[in-house]
Amino acid sequence: MKTFLLASLTLAASAIAADKIKVLIVDGQNNHQWKMTTPVLKQILEEPGIFSVDVSTSPEKGKGIESWQPKFSEYAVVVSNFNGEPWSAATKDAFEKFVAGGGGFVAVHAADNSFPEWPAYNEMIGVGGWGGRNEKSGPYLRLRDGKWTFDTTPGSGGSHGKQHEFNLNSGAPEHPIMQGLPEVFRHRQDELYNRLRGPAKNVTILASAFSPKEMGGSGELEPMLMAIPFGKGRVFHDALGHGAEAVHCVAFAVTLQRGTEWAATGKVTQKVPADFPDDQESKARP
Ligand code: ZN
Repeated sequence: MKTFLLASLTLAASAIAADKIKVLIVDGQNNHQWKMTTPVLKQILEEPGIFSVDVSTSPEKGKGIESWQPKFSEYAVVVSNFNGEPWSAATKDAFEKFVAGGGGFVAVHAADNSFPEWPAYNEMIGVGGWGGRNEKSGPYLRLRDGKWTFDTTPGSGGSHGKQHEFNLNSGAPEHPIMQGLPEVFRHRQDELYNRLRGPAKNVTILASAFSPKEMGGSGELEPMLMAIPFGKGRVFHDALGHGAEAVHCVAFAVTLQRGTEWAATGKVTQKVPADFPDDQESKARP
């Protein structure tokens, strides 16, 4: 009787897990506080009840990254909180096959600093920063006369000014990730990346933010949330999420939840919460 009961409980638990979208967060190296932000990302993703979330942490820098081989193919979507050493050829190959074959990928903040030397990765993220990126990496994305255009002006890729609160402007209200969100909504204090550049193939700018010159920015609207196809896969590039204020924010959490579901399935089934911010006041999360 006892055995039977245990067996049915185990079965029930695995059936419930099987219904959920399997998410793998990768971290372990980052010039940001990944040990603080990964648990927040995990908590944000577990809240809607539609994801099951695992974390794969790489060895520390110089301690054997080449032996790290996360099992990407066991997941629907990979969320990267990683900015560090190049992955092994086998891990890179497995990751490319995973996304090209229909897997989802979500790049959070400094994940877009990673791997300037890896062409497929740069196609996935569309644009990136630092690591020697420059005009050879591809154009900047600039809004001109209402259209996002390629700016091939020579210069480095990736910069930011002082952290501050800012508004996000929806650029694709019909996209599943943005449907039902206000046209303009406020994000808590964050590092507003500017002058990212890269191959920028087929990038849909879901949301942008103005980077003020007086805060050390570019004086331009900068892409913040992006959707990029890669083979049969979908990439959600989220340039937000520098530190504690930025990740404890309703705008950050909701767009991460929606972007992760879209990257995994191509759809968004989540409702926009009633406390979603407008353009006047950002909303903190516990
Ligand atoms: Zn940062």
